[in-house]
Amino acid sequence: MSWSQYLQDKLIKLDEQTQLRALQTTENGCETWINKHGKRLLNLASNNYLGLAGDYRLIEAAQESAIYGAGATASRLIVGNHPLYEEAEHTIATWKGTESALLVGSGYMANVGALAALLSKDDVVYSDRLNHASITDGIMLSRAQHRRYHHNDMNHLEQLLQQDSENKRKLIVTDTVFSMDGDMASLRDLVYLKEKYGAFLMVDEAHASGIYGAEGAGLGHVFRDSIDLHMGTCSKALGCSGAYLAGSKGVINYLLNTMRPFIFTTGMMPSAVGTVIRAIEIVRTDTVRREALLANSELLRKELNEAGFCIGTSTTQIVPIIAGSNEAAVRWAHMLQEAGIAAIAIRPPTVPGHTSRVRLTVTAEHTFTEIKWAVQQIKAVLWQDGVLI
Ligand code: PMP
Repeated sequence: MSWSQYLQDKLIKLDEQTQLRALQTTENGCETWINKHGKRLLNLASNNYLGLAGDYRLIEAAQESAIYGAGATASRLIVGNHPLYEEAEHTIATWKGTESALLVGSGYMANVGALAALLSKDDVVYSDRLNHASITDGIMLSRAQHRRYHHNDMNHLEQLLQQDSENKRKLIVTDTVFSMDGDMASLRDLVYLKEKYGAFLMVDEAHASGIYGAEGAGLGHVFRDSIDLHMGTCSKALGCSGAYLAGSKGVINYLLNTMRPFIFTTGMMPSAVGTVIRAIEIVRTDTVRREALLANSELLRKELNEAGFCIGTSTTQIVPIIAGSNEAAVRWAHMLQEAGIAAIAIRPPTVPGHTSRVRLTVTAEHTFTEIKWAVQQIKAVLWQDGVLI
């Protein structure tokens, strides 16, 4: 069979499983109301949690930083280490309360690169089964022994830790806010287990950074001395792109020397680094945005709960409505779009089988009126689909 026929057959199979994806152009994606296919939609699908992606201060910072060039010209270990990096990494380490920090091109690269660099095939890694795909990919690349513990189940984690020899090097890794369920990791218990079993603890703060913890420094901030490696993205609440790894000088220096997606790639654009610095300055002081986001999240969860929807275990700005089948999730997302709401259907492999869902995310910029209107629309759509009676 030819390659083109083989690939075509694979796409047909994905389509039969309602797993075929397609790009749709979104205009004015930084705003609360977006235009997609000529339709005006309330944006309940973005990670721009604090509304900073379109903020004039970040856009100004990007313009000002472009004096260092449009591109970094090379890997940072060659001649791409322009002066803003040091400032950004110092800003991140001070904010996170760690000795050191390293900027990386994206959250995906940070997780894959750090895990592949830290782990070898003789090590054991314990990963929450709902951790982000980039964590799973980093583990697979490392060839370490992979133990997936039931979601947030500390008893199961401890059982697995006990089963492995004391002599094994162990690493525990978790999202702090889970990207598809919107619930939080039990960090206090993870720190306890990490200390009891002498493990290394890495946390992914992608959906917590800029929002939770003192000055938005993340849920791991209070446990900063017990967490060996903090990863966070600059692409969500910070409104930019890129990611950071923060920890002790020793750990960060090790990653700088061994992490392939750091060594073998061109440094981030100066304009992107400049926006990260400005975004951190803003999130550290702007409590108004954080409080608005928390109030909006609470309202969305309360309204959906009262309307009788299954929103799983969400306690954050990420709120799923569990549909079960791929077909139902895709149909609901499509019907919501028709009703004026941008929300995405999430299917396997992003979530476990039979838990397909429509994932809603709220930002600091939504109004209470918009959230209440959205819940009314969702109710109408699901009533029309025969889910609500
Ligand atoms: N970790 C988690 C938990 C995420 O949700 C994401 C993004 N969806 C990433 C890592 C990857 O981050 P980035 O988009 O910056 O590559």
